[in-house]
Amino acid sequence: MKTPAQTHAIDFDSAKLQRLGFGQPSPLPHRPVTLAQLRQQLGQHLQTSLEPERILGLFFREIQRLVPLDAMVYRHPASDLRLEFGQRGHHSVSYILSHEGEALGELVLRRHQRLTEEELGQLESLLSTLLYPMRNALLYRAATRSALRDPLTQTGNRIAMDQTLQREIGMARRHQHPLSLLMLDIDHFKHINDTHGHSAGDKVLRAVAASIKGQLRNVDMVFRYGGEEFLILLSNTRREAAAMVGERLRQAAQAEDYRADGTRIDLTVSLGCSTLLAAESAESLLRRADNALYVAKREGRNRLAMAG
Ligand code: GH3
Ligand code: MG
Ligand code: MG
Repeated sequence: MKTPAQTHAIDFDSAKLQRLGFGQPSPLPHRPVTLAQLRQQLGQHLQTSLEPERILGLFFREIQRLVPLDAMVYRHPASDLRLEFGQRGHHSVSYILSHEGEALGELVLRRHQRLTEEELGQLESLLSTLLYPMRNALLYRAATRSALRDPLTQTGNRIAMDQTLQREIGMARRHQHPLSLLMLDIDHFKHINDTHGHSAGDKVLRAVAASIKGQLRNVDMVFRYGGEEFLILLSNTRREAAAMVGERLRQAAQAEDYRADGTRIDLTVSLGCSTLLAAESAESLLRRADNALYVAKREGRNRLAMAG
């Protein structure tokens, strides 16, 4: 069934914000029965968080007092964000949020019953309370993400890896789930650098990272571990399944079409795989994957070796 949709683009320029009453001193919060009161309360509450999920969750909950809704979806592809609240509704209205040319995402609001003109007007007014909190939250998110990312390959850096590994080990223990780790190293990478130059090498590194991410559901679990070495965490994955993923990564990396100055570069990777043992430390899990990788290299490269 096709869902009726209305789309509105709102650019909240400064003049409009002024008109909507932003920046004016406000009376003490009271039970929100009117639009003005609710807007004022939202303006205060939404500022208390830098998490998009919390800000939007609060917004969705609070606006129910004035405009009941069944669902809300938020999207901001540049930040890799997609958040959903509530259940599906038949009618929808979509708003593109922007402030002074800055894209702050798209909101789709849904309800089984059609929204009235009055409600749409109220929604538009309430949406303006999201602008500054969401802009700050998105900036904060971008800053923290870039601190955890390797700029060349857009995979997680060592700080992100350490944090994620500790977290995943904790979760695996608590839920008694298996956790596996793949260490992937490009074969004879030095030769690629020596033959084609360092910037061609950089391009190859990016392509290998993209190939790995293209094979995985959760791209947040790929980390650049060393110069030409990547670490992949596989949560809730036992040894046999991890071996299959590793083999898939090996084949995908080999099948990629790498080029420098128009000529094709042959490239292979080697992998070591380990699976978390009872009471094992992060260091030991990493060491066993590294040892397995060493075995894969010694046995001829372009292969996967399993830790004992
Ligand atoms: P092996 O098959 O045993 O892994 O051989 P290899 O040549 O890949 O390994 P080795 O550790 O001897 O060399 C790794 C090379 O990776 C050396 C280093 O110059 C290069 N490298 C490390 N980081 C980068 C980078 O960011 N960009 C480029 N282009 N090269 C890098
Ligand atoms: Mg190497
Ligand atoms: Mg290496």
